Amino acid sequence: MENSCLFCRIVAGEIPATVVHRTDTTLAFRDIDPKAPSHVLVIPVTHHANVIELAADPAAAADVLATAAKVAELEGLADGFRVIFNTGAHGGQEVFHVHAHVVGGAPLGPMLARR
Ligand code: 5GP
Ligand code: ZN
Repeated sequence: MENSCLFCRIVAGEIPATVVHRTDTTLAFRDIDPKAPSHVLVIPVTHHANVIELAADPAAAADVLATAAKVAELEGLADGFRVIFNTGAHGGQEVFHVHAHVVGGAPLGPMLARR
């Protein structure tokens, strides 16, 4: 656990979150500022800063993806959804404990705004 890390503190129970699903290695909780009718964040319980660090830990990466799929099932996203890992400055990452955004519940529109 990193004391300064917001999502490590959620794992530790120091900051409340609305938990959707939990496993021994992952936690899924609702985004505080949802961008879609269903917007859940899936994190490994161990600190990895971003998806590059997560990819270096294949077991943790597989567990995060499996929990993302489970969340889609629990949230009733049978019509489709997106799994997004914002990474680094250009990706708009704001919290540096890797998290998969699982978003859905309505048509999500184009993947990216056109420039
Ligand atoms: P990023 O921009 O790093 O990919 O996404 C960070 C996400 O974390 C944002 O969608 C933001 O709304 C969410 N977030 C920030 N602080 C909190 C918090 O304290 N609790 C929860 N549940 N979500 C948070
Ligand atoms: Zn952390």
